[in-house]
Amino acid sequence: MEETIAYTSQELMELEDRFGAYNYHPLPVVLSRGKGVKVWDVEGKSYYDFLSAYSAVNQGHCHPRIINALTEQAQHLTLTSRAFYNDVLGRYEKYICEFFGYDKVLPVNTGVEAVETAIKLCRKWAYEVKGIEPNLAKIIFVSGNFHGRTLGAISASADPSSTRGFGPFVPGYKIIPYNDLEALQNALEDPNVCGFMLEPIQGEAGVIVPTDRYLMEAHKLCQDKEVLFIADEVQTGIARTGKMLCCDHVGIRPDIVILGKALSGGVFPVSAVLADDEVMLSIKPGEHGSTFGGNPLACAVAMEALQVVKDENLCDNAAHLGQVFRSRMEELVNQSDLISIVRGKGLLNAIVIDDSPESSTAWNLCLALRDNGLLAKPTHGNIIRFAPPLIISEEQLEECCEIIISTVNKFEE
Ligand code: PLP
Repeated sequence: MEETIAYTSQELMELEDRFGAYNYHPLPVVLSRGKGVKVWDVEGKSYYDFLSAYSAVNQGHCHPRIINALTEQAQHLTLTSRAFYNDVLGRYEKYICEFFGYDKVLPVNTGVEAVETAIKLCRKWAYEVKGIEPNLAKIIFVSGNFHGRTLGAISASADPSSTRGFGPFVPGYKIIPYNDLEALQNALEDPNVCGFMLEPIQGEAGVIVPTDRYLMEAHKLCQDKEVLFIADEVQTGIARTGKMLCCDHVGIRPDIVILGKALSGGVFPVSAVLADDEVMLSIKPGEHGSTFGGNPLACAVAMEALQVVKDENLCDNAAHLGQVFRSRMEELVNQSDLISIVRGKGLLNAIVIDDSPESSTAWNLCLALRDNGLLAKPTHGNIIRFAPPLIISEEQLEECCEIIISTVNKFEE
């Protein structure tokens, strides 16, 4: 074990620089503690967390009930693998299936693993149930998507920063424009199409919100063509947009739902794929799995994390405070030359800096926000996503709006 030394932020950043791969470009702030909507750096300065670990910390940092579930379970049993039954998995499976209204769940770890699982499940269903000839199944994706970083996920990406230098890619994918029903209708003419995967709001792309009609019609078009409608709700799910699932806003029930992130309240990776028997039973024993998927620790944490969302009415809080946030930001859009748009749903929002994606304005604005006690990160150069923990109070949100508004105003001087 390394001896205990009190490192400074600067020293810790240098360690990451020296020994870590360069696959991230973090904002220079080194966090050592989190509680509720706030995080503290190594030197003790506090910040409002307006990223929430990309919406994994919807329930707030170190939620006492979730941490309690974690530590309680950790003292009994952490991992059995699926070679044996354990005494938490079945209870969790019942709980989450009833919570979201599906026949079955397939538990995995990271979000992208759940995405991969959904792709494999969809293909298996295509061959076993829909009757597509072997190896011909196709899945439709939309441009601007972000489904994670594995080859299976980036093969669906149209973003060069995700794909450049990583080919060759997985075949059997078709990418069409987002929010374009005609493109979907045309793509669905191919009889080998078995699935359509999309995020109901594109988070990483910069909080791109499609029309309600798009989601409703797309779902109907898929139903008409016996194509599985697969919703990647890894970022939008679990109350983030003001409903338990973002698809609930338009009353559609996806054939496959992919969940991750806040399923553990940010404690550690817990993800899940939900579907009904007709789809889920296409995968048989030995055909898919993971050593840690469905481990008792994850199951105990996920049950508590979901129950906290329900008990603390986080959907309602996100819906209400999302409106407050957007109306305050609209004021900013009207008075500022720097900010051109605010958009989002619930507490998944973004502002667009009236600047090119190559400019460093959004990055510099995030540095200024950091100095003023609020953490956010640019996406796609000129967009800043604002996604605080859903437990934020109206008073705290007002304080954060003041920080954002005064930072932007000072920035423009
Ligand atoms: N799907 C969506 C919509 C996401 O936003 C993300 C991560 O940001 C993923 C999948 C991948 O999740 P993970 O990073 O846990 O693999």
